[in-house]
Amino acid sequence: MLPFAEAFFMSSHLPSSQSPRIVILGAGFAGLRLARKLANKPVQVVLIDKNNFHQFQPLFYQVATAGLAPSSIAFPIRKVFHKAHNVHFRVAEVDRIDTLSNSIHTSIGSISYDKLVIATGADTNYFNNKQIEAHALPMKSVQESLYLRNRILECMEAALVADSDEERAALMNVVVVGGGPTGTEVSGALAEMRSFVLPKDYPELDFDTMEIHLIEASPRLLGPMSKDASKRSEDFLRSMGVKVEVNTLVESYDGHTVTTKDGRTFITNSLIWAAGIKGNVLEGIPEELIIANGRVKVDSTNKMLGSDNVFVIGDVAIMEEGNFTKGHPQVAQVAIQQADQLYVNLLSQLKGKKMKPFHYKDLGSMATIGRNKAVVDLPYIKFQGFVAWVFWLFIHLMSILGVKNKFFIFLEWTVNYFTYDQSLRLVIKQKPRDGEASVK
Ligand SMILES: Cc1cc2nc3c(=O)[nH]c(=O)nc-3n(C[C@H](O)[C@H](O)[C@H](O)COP(=O)(O)OP(=O)(O)OC[C@H]3O[C@@H](n4cnc5c(N)ncnc54)[C@H](O)[C@@H]3O)c2cc1C
Repeated sequence: MLPFAEAFFMSSHLPSSQSPRIVILGAGFAGLRLARKLANKPVQVVLIDKNNFHQFQPLFYQVATAGLAPSSIAFPIRKVFHKAHNVHFRVAEVDRIDTLSNSIHTSIGSISYDKLVIATGADTNYFNNKQIEAHALPMKSVQESLYLRNRILECMEAALVADSDEERAALMNVVVVGGGPTGTEVSGALAEMRSFVLPKDYPELDFDTMEIHLIEASPRLLGPMSKDASKRSEDFLRSMGVKVEVNTLVESYDGHTVTTKDGRTFITNSLIWAAGIKGNVLEGIPEELIIANGRVKVDSTNKMLGSDNVFVIGDVAIMEEGNFTKGHPQVAQVAIQQADQLYVNLLSQLKGKKMKPFHYKDLGSMATIGRNKAVVDLPYIKFQGFVAWVFWLFIHLMSILGVKNKFFIFLEWTVNYFTYDQSLRLVIKQKPRDGEASVK
């Protein structure tokens, strides 16, 4: 017999329907897109996420550096489905899938499915380095970005009352590990804070002594982008006073000292870890289908290998396609395009028609380093500098969900641009829990 909670939730909390039930796990770029496409179609959709909001991850770094409010880059999921009578959203943590009984097990009980779509995205990868995991600051959710903002501001407050120069330096210095778009963008934003914002708030501190290091293991920043983009982004960062260390592998961090493989050390109380991600894999997925960084093997239609009714899309999926022999890049466009194709395929499958293979159309990539400074690689043209920066602003503004969010972000960016200021430097946090470490 099923435990009470499971039996209770299994049937009674979702309306009965004659339509096939598609359960979508995760309301990120992939899951939310698919659920929106399936709205008011002849299926019952159950969308599950552990948060009641969708997060726009590309702008996390602006929350972390006090440029945007968390609410500007998060959107309540229920609001998306006001007019979708066949979509049922549940806030729950999914623990396990059971492909034998076609059901999933969550924090609110079990739910059965006819078709399951796993779109749980990815989380920070510390490559099994427990010491770094214990001390580093990740940036993979709104909550973590807010924590990072608090941390940076608290360190400045503590620096004011530090007992020694060494202690003050550790509180003020920041080390960013990982020279991909996230690491590059957050380093640039921190450099701007150091130049324009922090000296006004903390006139008693000498920001000429504050060091921002960006450490990257490979020979260049923004590895997947063009060499021009890498070179210009490095030049931009260096011109802003960021110390860029390429070909440098971080081996350990004890909360105070960062040690690299070649024996160098950097002193900081704040290490931002942007060096890798791993898929959010659920229990119940056959182990042989999961590769080292937690991505699940799928066929050309995003069907989990060996299954007929379980699909995996977005960051957590790995598909070999054409030139993408090691899988597609883990970016929003892949998640969105896979959701679009799966939408067509699910309806085809339900009608007994053949599904079509997925082909990724690379629309280009971009990163911003600071005001008037960005790099853009489009399929036929690459450009950097002011035009790239305006292009970056426009694309990101258009991609944000919700008219109100677009408006607030536009307003915030305009005010910040002209005033060289950010108004969100509030330390908002819960009462400290037992054993929680202070920034010192
Ligand atoms: C800081 C940062 C910057 C980025 N910048 C860019 C960029 O500039 N351009 C770009 O294209 N891409 C960027 N990306 C990558 C992009 O955000 C991802 O590729 C994209 O979000 C993947 O979409 P997804 O739907 O697969 O996963 P996600 O968008 O991560 O969504 C996964 C969802 O699943 C939910 N979830 C996970 N596990 C569970 C569980 N067990 N139970 C319930 N719910 C669960 C999560 O809450 C989340 O809502 C960035 C990522 C980060 C972190």
